[in-house]
Amino acid sequence: MSRNTINLVTGGAGFLGSHLVDKLMGKDEEVICLDNYFTGRKSNLYNWMNNPKFELIRHDVTKPITLEVDKIWHLACPASPIHYQYNPIKTAKTSFLGTYNMLGLAKRVEAKILLASTSEVYGNPEIHPQPETYFGNVNTIGIRSCYDEGKRIAETLCFDYKRNHGVDIKIARIFNTYGPRMLPNDGRVISNLIVQALLKRPLTIYGRGDQTRSFCYVDDLINGLIKLMDSKENGPINLGNPEEFKIIDLAKIIREKTNLDKEFIFKRLPMDDPMQRKPVITKANEKLDWNPLISLDEGLNKTISYFVEELNL
Ligand code: NAD
Ligand code: UDP
Repeated sequence: MSRNTINLVTGGAGFLGSHLVDKLMGKDEEVICLDNYFTGRKSNLYNWMNNPKFELIRHDVTKPITLEVDKIWHLACPASPIHYQYNPIKTAKTSFLGTYNMLGLAKRVEAKILLASTSEVYGNPEIHPQPETYFGNVNTIGIRSCYDEGKRIAETLCFDYKRNHGVDIKIARIFNTYGPRMLPNDGRVISNLIVQALLKRPLTIYGRGDQTRSFCYVDDLINGLIKLMDSKENGPINLGNPEEFKIIDLAKIIREKTNLDKEFIFKRLPMDDPMQRKPVITKANEKLDWNPLISLDEGLNKTISYFVEELNL
């Protein structure tokens, strides 16, 4: 007897995970969402709570679990520096043991598995912009290492499960992504600056603000993840918006959009904060026919509207 495709989304109550769940449920597929609620919220999934095609499981991916599924979307891991540095040993366990457990499950039930990796595998890059062939420049002993090295070993595990056990793996290297459902206290730059601006507080700039990032709107990113899962590619594949901004310029745009009349506050640049980041997305473009479509201007407007509602303003 044939049955519907069953998706497992780890980290499904989080920012990206919940948008992915929305998209999969919209395709009328079955979705099992698994989360320990460290940075995720059940409220992100309220739309689906009474839907018979949706199941929510409170579970920590550092522990094994047995489920009959076809596609594993492995997103469980805190992504914001303040959250992943809160308990760095747990972050390393989540990356290593979590990915190990999900690869073991994929092997047992012959499911495809997609790993949400990161541009952080490039560390503080000496090559700009960053293609997938760049091996990176990562500190093994810094405060970001639990996350950066965690994702690097997670990628390694994926390829060893592919080579040794034939598991169908997909690795997405996600660059800074933003949008509705980021937590107000998330600490990442776009949510931080928008929340500060809406609360009429001065915007905090770390360092001089001349470090760069390239920001991708969440809808574009989710489309890329779905195209990757549906493709024959293993990756790694960069997914991000190559439009690059200095942090100070991002802050100026947000200040203008929110009519904030306050000077910036400059704070110490955190250790190992990468100076530049911009993806080469030729591979995603050629292999997945994927391109980000939403500009920073449009994405910021949507995100600001979300936070206006979220903060009851
Ligand atoms: P998020 O913090 O909103 O979501 C992570 C989710 O994983 C949360 O719901 C959290 O509760 C859950 N989680 C954490 N540890 C867990 C554990 N041990 N067991 C079960 N659940 C656990 O972050 P996000 O931005 O949605 O990121 C999702 C994934 O994408 C992460 O793997 C992250 O590394 C990756 N990523 C995100 C970005 C980005 O810019 N948003 C960039 C690169 C990579
Ligand atoms: N940043 C900043 N002010 C803030 C939060 C972040 O200037 O209030 C800077 C941070 O130092 C980094 C960039 O913005 O250079 C992006 O930070 P984020 O935490 O969003 O992501 P990541 O450093 O992991 O790319």
